[in-house]
Amino acid sequence: MERTTVKPTFFSKMYCNLFGHDYHVTKKVTRHVKEYKCCHCKKELTTNSNGKLTELTSTFKDINNVLEFMYHKKLSRVQQKMYNTSAA
Ligand SMILES: [Zn+2]
Repeated sequence: MERTTVKPTFFSKMYCNLFGHDYHVTKKVTRHVKEYKCCHCKKELTTNSNGKLTELTSTFKDINNVLEFMYHKKLSRVQQKMYNTSAA
């Protein structure tokens, strides 16, 4: 028996064609960049450099991973700075 549970079903695609995608935020990369996934057909989107939504390709996933890393690094540096200032 073949298992096809990962692939979106015909019905899910039909639903999205009729009613539109139902996107939910799956990941907050930075304050402005987020990743979204349609809960029906599992289509993924992300915010690109123009602030517009675009399909989440493996290239964009890589970019987002770097963005996320840099964003958190910057955040922790700011927090450390605040800590040092208050401790002094
Ligand atoms: Zn959809």
